[in-house]
Amino acid sequence: MTNRDWVQRDLSVLWHPCTQMKDHERLPLIPIRRGQGVWLEDFEGQRYLDAISSWWVNLFGHANPRINARVTAQLDELEHVLLAGFSHAPAIELAERLVGITPAGLSRVFFADNGSAAVEVALKMSFHYWRNRGQTKKTKFISLANSYHGETLGALAVGDVALYKETYRPLLMEVISVASPDCYAREAGESCADYSRRRFAEMEATLARYADEACAVIVEPLVQCAGNMRMYDPVYLKMLREACDRHGVHLIADEIAVGFGRTGTLFACEQAGISPDFMCLSKGLTGGYLPLAVVMTTDDTFDAFYDDYASLRAFLHSHSYTGNPLGCAAGLATLDIFAEDDVLGSNRRLARAMAAATAELTDHPHVAEVRQTGMILAIEMVRDKATKEPYDWRERRGLRVYRHALKEGVLLRPLGNVIYFMPPYVITEEQIHTLARVAREGIDLATRD
Ligand code: PMP
Repeated sequence: MTNRDWVQRDLSVLWHPCTQMKDHERLPLIPIRRGQGVWLEDFEGQRYLDAISSWWVNLFGHANPRINARVTAQLDELEHVLLAGFSHAPAIELAERLVGITPAGLSRVFFADNGSAAVEVALKMSFHYWRNRGQTKKTKFISLANSYHGETLGALAVGDVALYKETYRPLLMEVISVASPDCYAREAGESCADYSRRRFAEMEATLARYADEACAVIVEPLVQCAGNMRMYDPVYLKMLREACDRHGVHLIADEIAVGFGRTGTLFACEQAGISPDFMCLSKGLTGGYLPLAVVMTTDDTFDAFYDDYASLRAFLHSHSYTGNPLGCAAGLATLDIFAEDDVLGSNRRLARAMAAATAELTDHPHVAEVRQTGMILAIEMVRDKATKEPYDWRERRGLRVYRHALKEGVLLRPLGNVIYFMPPYVITEEQIHTLARVAREGIDLATRD
C-alpha cells in the first residue's frame, strides 16, 4: 500500500479535525506509518521532523522506549476499569505524584479524558463550589481576549479565537472578556512586564465590578498558544492571584498546553510563584501517548462538596474513560523521565539554541517579532514591519510555509501568519538549525509578493 492508496481510502471515509476537507483536493494528506523520536514516517519512507509535537502533546519523542515499556506492561495487567466505586494503582500513583510536583495547595486530582473536558470540569466545579457555599449569584466567568480553552461548548465560550467560536456564538454562555496582557502590542521601548502590568488595570476594574457574580477567572498562564502564541509576563499572574483572593473569585490555570516544561519551568504558574484554585492538565501529561486530563484543586474546594448524599452537593460529572489506566501508566513513565533526567536543564540549552538559530529573522523585512518563552518560539509574519499591519488571512501565507516545510521534511503548522516551534524535548541542536533554515526559507517564499 502506497501513500496514495491510504489517502484515497482515508478521504472516502474520514472527516478530519480543524480542516476544510475541500482543501485536500489540492493539499496532500499525509498518512503516517510510524514514528520514532522527533520523526514521523509515511508509507513511502519520507520522514517529517515533528516540530509541533503533534499538536503540542509529545514531550519525549514518538515510540519512546521508556514510555512504551510502561504502557505495554500495564496492558497486560488492566486496560480499563471505571473510576466510580473502583480504583486502580496507576490512577492513585499518578495523582500522588502530581500533588507532589504541582504548586502548593493543589491536593485533589479529578480525572477526565481530554483537555476540553478538563476545562468543562473546572468551570462546573467552580460554579458548583459557590453554589454549595450558598453564593448562588455567582454564575459568570471572566476570561482573556485571544484565549483558547478547547472546542466543547463551555470551553469554547470562555475562549476567544473567532475562527473557532464565531459560528457557534448563539449556543454559548455569555462570558466577561478582558483585554489580553499579550505583549505584542506594547509600545516601543516598553518592557513586556510594564505592558502586562499596565494591562492589569482592566482586569482589576472587572473583578471589582463583577466580584459578586463571578465564579472564576480562567487563563492560559504565560502563553496564549492557539491565539497565535502570544506571550505575557508572569507579573500579570501574580497580580491576578492577589486580586482574585481580594475579590473572592477563583483562579483557573489552564496549563493544558504550557504544562510539563514547555515554558521553561515544570508549570508556567511557578514563574509567578502562584497556586491557582484549579489547574487543568492534559496533552504532555501522558508524554503525548494517550488522551488523559486532570483538574487539580484545593482541600477547600473538595470540602465544599463533601457531605451526606442526600444534601445533593456531590460533583457527579463523569466520562467513561476517566483516569484510564493505560493513560495513567504513560503519565507515570513521563514523570519518571522528568525525575531521572535533567529535562529542564537540557531544555534551557535547547531554548538557547532555538533563540540563536532564529536571531537573524528579527531583521527580516516581513517579520514583526520573534518571541520565545522556554521551548515555545514564535515568528510573526506581517505585511508591514513598521506598522505591524498583518497579512490578510485569506492570503493563507502560513499555508505556503507549511507546504515548503513539508517538501523539506519538516512538520510546521503555522497558526495564521505565525510560524512556531514547539518541538519534542528530544530534538537536537542540529535539528533546531534545520527547523530555523526551513522556516526562514518558507517565510522568504511566503512573503515574496
Ligand atoms: N486548553 C488549551 C490551552 C489548549 O491549548 C487546548 C488544546 N489545544 C485545550 C484546552 C483543549 O484540549 P483538547 O484538544 O485535548 O480538548
